[in-house]
Amino acid sequence: MTSGGGIQIPNRLPLLLTHEGVLLPGSTVRFSVDSPRNMQMVSQRLLRGTSLKSTIIGVIPNTRDPERDTDDIPTLHNIGTAGIAVQVVGSNWPKPHYTLLITGLCRFSVSNLLKERPFVLAEVEQLDKLEQYMIPATEGVSADDGELGELSQKFYQAAVQLLGMLDMSVPVVAKFRRLLDSLPRETLPDVVASMIRTSNKEKLQVLDAVSLEERFKKALPMLTRQIEGLKLLQKTRKMSPDNEKRVLSVRKGGVFPGRQFNLDGEDEDGDGDDTAVLERKVHGANMPETAFRVCLKELKRLKKMPQSMPEYALTRNYLDLMVELPWNKSTKDCLDIQAARTLLDNDHYAMDKLKRRVLEYLAVRQLKTSLKGPILCFVGPPGVGKTSVGRSIARTLGREFHRIALGGVCDQSDIRGHRRTYVGSMPGRIINGLKTVGVNNPVFLLDEVDKLGKSLQGDPAAALLEVLDPEQNHSFTDHYLNVAFDLSQVLFIATANTTATIPPALLDRMEVLQVPGYTQEEKVEIAHRHLIPNQLEQHGLTPQQLHIPQDTTQDIISRYTREAGVRSLERKFGAICRAVAVKVAEGHRVTRTETLIPSGPIEQGDKVTPPEMPIVIDPVALKDILGPPLFEMEVSERFTLPGVALGLAWTPLGGEIMFVEASRMEGEGQLTLTGQLGDVMKESAHLAISWLRANAKTYQLTNMVGGPDPLEGTDIHLHFPAGAVTKDGPSAGVTIVTCLASLFSGRLVRSDIAMTGEITLRGLVLPVGGIKDKVLAAYRAGVKRVILPKRNEKDLEELPANVRADLDFVTAGNLDEVLNAAFDGGFPGTASTHTHPQLTSKL
Ligand code: ADP
Repeated sequence: MTSGGGIQIPNRLPLLLTHEGVLLPGSTVRFSVDSPRNMQMVSQRLLRGTSLKSTIIGVIPNTRDPERDTDDIPTLHNIGTAGIAVQVVGSNWPKPHYTLLITGLCRFSVSNLLKERPFVLAEVEQLDKLEQYMIPATEGVSADDGELGELSQKFYQAAVQLLGMLDMSVPVVAKFRRLLDSLPRETLPDVVASMIRTSNKEKLQVLDAVSLEERFKKALPMLTRQIEGLKLLQKTRKMSPDNEKRVLSVRKGGVFPGRQFNLDGEDEDGDGDDTAVLERKVHGANMPETAFRVCLKELKRLKKMPQSMPEYALTRNYLDLMVELPWNKSTKDCLDIQAARTLLDNDHYAMDKLKRRVLEYLAVRQLKTSLKGPILCFVGPPGVGKTSVGRSIARTLGREFHRIALGGVCDQSDIRGHRRTYVGSMPGRIINGLKTVGVNNPVFLLDEVDKLGKSLQGDPAAALLEVLDPEQNHSFTDHYLNVAFDLSQVLFIATANTTATIPPALLDRMEVLQVPGYTQEEKVEIAHRHLIPNQLEQHGLTPQQLHIPQDTTQDIISRYTREAGVRSLERKFGAICRAVAVKVAEGHRVTRTETLIPSGPIEQGDKVTPPEMPIVIDPVALKDILGPPLFEMEVSERFTLPGVALGLAWTPLGGEIMFVEASRMEGEGQLTLTGQLGDVMKESAHLAISWLRANAKTYQLTNMVGGPDPLEGTDIHLHFPAGAVTKDGPSAGVTIVTCLASLFSGRLVRSDIAMTGEITLRGLVLPVGGIKDKVLAAYRAGVKRVILPKRNEKDLEELPANVRADLDFVTAGNLDEVLNAAFDGGFPGTASTHTHPQLTSKL
């Protein structure tokens, strides 16, 4: 820093453009920076630098609108203050930013901008002498120096007068006194202007006053004004230390030579301007009485705290959150059932039952504005539009929408927040959500309530119960806030894949609406009405550029996806769009080069571009883009041996087909079961074997050597492929029986049939759940005939007409009927070998 001409700042400085305040030489100011350029300056320069020199930066006040400080740099103020960054603190909350503590050294002017990115670097010219701080107070400008001397004398006296009016017991005041005597007079205008109450505009005037004389002239009236103000105040009431603190705008208080690298926090205790703003916000936040009182208390604490104390930031963050919360801010509901119906219909194809129930719910809400209705819970496989219906509900009501993902949440403080005593404590997701949407009556979608976990940190379901219970949620207390927030205006909607794992108490509060999977036809419609247009738009394509025929869609559905919803279908369209986007982009480049280098006469240049034709996705293009098909119709190929039957299973992801395989070998009558089975499933297998042994004679079942007991000298192995998935439930009973009957009789099960049903020891077939999803899965897999328990017949009404028309349904009351339907030409020994009385064909 030292050069021939005295102490110098570097002649190239990175600049901090700030609209937050004005740094004057001799004072220390805290700046919070979050604009990209300033952040780059901090991370690339301040945090990387190792020398003292690299901590010197130029602070340029940016008096323009902060919002516009993004891309183009604003016209810069010509004069700034070089300063030393004495502290850099980074934080990610509420958004990434750095807080810099900078001590001003001297003025400079910008002579040349060297670069603007990633941060601004400028060639600067130093305007003040740094040596001024080294001159003892007794030297330097004195009364003998003509006008300047007079001015400085006047200024000094005024400052002493001000001090005389203040209470010496306040530490800042005492320090001011000490410094006043030890500082050279030249520095007084800067130092005093940054200590007394002045606006940024006034500070800017002081900054701009390069000549010392002018600086004294500018700062003196501010000082006198301060004294006059204080006199007035003292007349009206007795001074208390609190008031004095306010007189000295201490946050931006002076830090003086010799102390610059040794901040002790005391220099900036209290917080004039900033807390005043906060206080105003607290008063304006319209919060309930209790919350307001808590805020005032915290505010009082904050004022007494030095800024460098970690708790300062905590308290500040807390208060910032409190004033930001929408205590009393709400959107106005605009509910028009007719419009809601249109909107729901436009957004979603099919799902009529769900849409009807949602409309009913909304209609009741319209008639009776109190919100104490049940909480809707959409239950169904992934990708069937649960979230998207939730979003539509918010739109029809004109409310804000916020999704809270609960999958994997196993700590109740996720919902209810951490107490503020913890480091890094924060509010829970509910309060955070409210802060995000900024109103107190949003639609909150509690996604995946069935995937709530449990852990030592308390049960999140219990916390959620409090959130959802209309009797309690008007005074929901987040641990972080520690005051009640009224959640009664929030409209909660939950989604889940299955009700089985929703905690019962929670389930009790909700009205479950099943959202089953879609049929192939429905998927095609959804694809062409919604998914494809959406994907085209997201990828910046138009129907003129990409065309996906219906046949291709059907191919994608049956050969590239196997799901109840449409999520992976949507992803496949995404993949196609990306591939086409590349082609379209390449195409543009080619045409451009062609026009640039025309082969013929120039006039023909335009004709080189062919008319735009859409890229049609035919089977060849499909295979190119998505690769070979992932699924083939494999059902019939697997029925080549006796001992295979096709069952139908229900999973939270929708219905599925499930093969059951059996084989036998010489042994001692042991049964081996493999394929990750639950207890109920194992019991079903034992039941099936017992029933078949008991009825072996009737059905002419034999062991390997033709003996009358199928298990004699024989071991049986039953396997349920796809062993990685745990399978349980009673509904595989009929399938196991059929599979074993096939094994023991040596006959093949019909290859186009699938079945489901629970069995009893006496051979009855009991009803099971999830019929719609199971039948849809069978339909997807190309099955032609489905065996169901008789008492499930009523469930068939829920199926789309075309599925009912395409499938044969056999409703069976006992195993006799099952076996009869499962084998070609009936099963030997069954009561109705030649007829199919239960066949309700083409329903
Ligand atoms: P979920 O919440 O049930 O897992 P999403 O709501 O995320 O499913 O739906 C996945 C995608 O499928 C979304 O883009 C949604 O718009 C679309 N979608 C699902 N069902 C329908 C439908 N019936 N009509 C139109 N689009 C649908």
